[in-house]
Amino acid sequence: TVDTAALTAWVREFGRLIAAGRDLLTELDSAIGDADHGVNMDRGMTAVLAALAADPPTTPADVLKRTGMTLVSKVGGASGPLYGTAFLRMAAAAGAADALDAPGYAKVLRAGLDGVVARGKPAAGDKTMYDALAPAVDALDEALAAGRPLGEALRAALRAAEQGRDATIPMVARKGRASYLGERSAGHQDPGATSVTMLVSAAATVLG
Ligand code: ADP
Ligand code: MG
Ligand code: MG
Repeated sequence: TVDTAALTAWVREFGRLIAAGRDLLTELDSAIGDADHGVNMDRGMTAVLAALAADPPTTPADVLKRTGMTLVSKVGGASGPLYGTAFLRMAAAAGAADALDAPGYAKVLRAGLDGVVARGKPAAGDKTMYDALAPAVDALDEALAAGRPLGEALRAALRAAEQGRDATIPMVARKGRASYLGERSAGHQDPGATSVTMLVSAAATVLG
């Protein structure tokens, strides 16, 4: 089961991957945006990790809510509200549970995806974080429905996220700053699809 400690470890691993990928994310955003995605996310996750360390959360919802609130206040840009809303929706979906079973964790992750959709109105093929996260959430549900254990299901979700992320390369952006470039946004990997793949990767590493 996925308890408070496991969710905290997930968020911490996400922060580690964001810090390690900071320059890559910023480089990707310099090609089709304003070169701040790595800096934005690293500032936010550094603040999240400090907040969780200073005052350890006591429930799964607490981990997710404080992560979301910190990201909303520290990240800014498009990705701050998007990630913030995702984590706040995940917190609401976690409810009062002390721990989540595999389907419960999948429901939480889908609530996060629904938060991204509510906030940014992305559709498939718009060249956003949605194009990596939506296939990952679908793959997780499918693998669990097929009776796979959580670790295996999360590895399937990661493969789907990576494929979705890579599939953003030829896309023409229809949302966010990259859409201002029109056809010139094609040929570049979306920064948000790249960072959200790190979120799924962190889950596969820590919760599997
Ligand atoms: P900004 O574009 O404000 O500088 P960031 O660089 O931090 O913000 O984040 C850019 C990423 O946000 C994009 O790569 C994309 O994945 C995501 N994004 C932007 N707009 C939307 C949207 N409307 N829906 C979903 N994702 C979006
Ligand atoms: Mg940017
Ligand atoms: Mg910006």
